[in-house]
Amino acid sequence: MTARILVVDDIALNRKVLEAKLSAEYFEVSVAGSGAEALQSVEHSPPDLILLDVMMPEISGYEVCSRLKSDHRFSHIPVVMVTALDSPQDIVRGLESGADDFLTKPLDNLALFARVRNLVRLKRVLDEWRLREGGPLGDIGDEALANEPFTDARAFVMSDNGAVCRMLEQTAALLNHDVVYCALDAPPVRQLLVGSFDFILADVGYRPFDALRLCSQARSSEETRHLPLILIGDRTDSDRLHKGLDLGANECMVRPLNPNEVMARLKTQIRRHRLQQRIQRRHRANLNKAVTDALTGLYNRHYLDAHLCRLKDRAVEERRFLSFILCDLDMFKSVNDSHGHAVGDAVLRYIATKLSGCVRPQDMVVRYGGEEFLIVLPDTDLAHALRIAERLRCAIAGSVIPLPDNQTSLQMTASFGVADCAWTEASTDGALRRADDALYRSKHNGRNRVTASNKAGIALPPSAAIAAQTQIRH
Ligand SMILES: [Mg+2]
Repeated sequence: MTARILVVDDIALNRKVLEAKLSAEYFEVSVAGSGAEALQSVEHSPPDLILLDVMMPEISGYEVCSRLKSDHRFSHIPVVMVTALDSPQDIVRGLESGADDFLTKPLDNLALFARVRNLVRLKRVLDEWRLREGGPLGDIGDEALANEPFTDARAFVMSDNGAVCRMLEQTAALLNHDVVYCALDAPPVRQLLVGSFDFILADVGYRPFDALRLCSQARSSEETRHLPLILIGDRTDSDRLHKGLDLGANECMVRPLNPNEVMARLKTQIRRHRLQQRIQRRHRANLNKAVTDALTGLYNRHYLDAHLCRLKDRAVEERRFLSFILCDLDMFKSVNDSHGHAVGDAVLRYIATKLSGCVRPQDMVVRYGGEEFLIVLPDTDLAHALRIAERLRCAIAGSVIPLPDNQTSLQMTASFGVADCAWTEASTDGALRRADDALYRSKHNGRNRVTASNKAGIALPPSAAIAAQTQIRH
């Protein structure tokens, strides 16, 4: 995995050493000799990760970190504080300023690379969502990690270490977190799937289940792939902890645990996860908005075009029927003219609901134009489509449409054009044109009727189910 890493340190030798180590692992490295230079460099070309020295003259590492983390353009870039200080207070201060992790000098190569790879991987996930959400610039608005809430979360804990459990209980009480311990009667990953958790704490010293196995299982399941997973271990467990980071754990904490450090790390993980979830949810909602009609909630033509290609391909491949019904409200303009647009909108919404309620689950109703609807009927031949169209015609003509004032109501009729799509046709364009043509005939012949047209122009015998008004075009 290659990534762009910014190394910030006021001592040239430290920069050189880190640059050499990272370059040897094929990371792309840039350097900055002061806090100001670092901020400038990030502004100019944002890296995938920052290794940040704490003790620097003028702008300290803490200051650089908190400035970046409160800027929505850069708050998603992981920051690892690198320092000679390793008292719990220093670690907590670093984490409070928004740092994602903390490494102490002299740097252990294994620990360094495990953290770097892990954080870069997490950032890639967030990047992907930012890109989908905000286009190539990835600007997702004014959201910053620092604004995300971190209280009221649910924890899945896999540990039976008394000291660890006591500390987690205390932290949970402060942050209003709900702690659920791993039960022994079911595989942990199954417990995760049903529990709707916000994060996982897994002790690598836990006997009943293997924390690293949970790591790899959680990462290979769609539901738990992005759930923050924090490993806990002793100093002697460092190999297993680093392996855990490579398997996709987000963090590791080494005993004895410091309550403030635990709290700060949880805060960062929960915030990151919640920001990501929010971006995903909004992305889905936007996708929905792009393919549905705001007034009626039906699919729009945008969606139809993409969907038709898929349907047509399948129909050709598997020799399946495909038919269309085009429906246009009669005299709709006069509704708008005499009652106003609010009433017109209410009528369209009513008709959309009516049509959707009268078709089969596999059929799709699309708002095709102003007062025009298209019904796509897979696996349906022309004769069957005619019967459905007739049913729709009756449903609309027989409805009393309530108006927004709740005092008055309206009655409407609609005209229909029906056509089928032959397997030999390259696209659905011809069938849609024929449906339009048939619809025109219905209008021309007095409205409130169904007309069909097929490619060969063959007259179809009117089915007994079809009312006298229905005409087949020759
Ligand atoms: Mg320094």
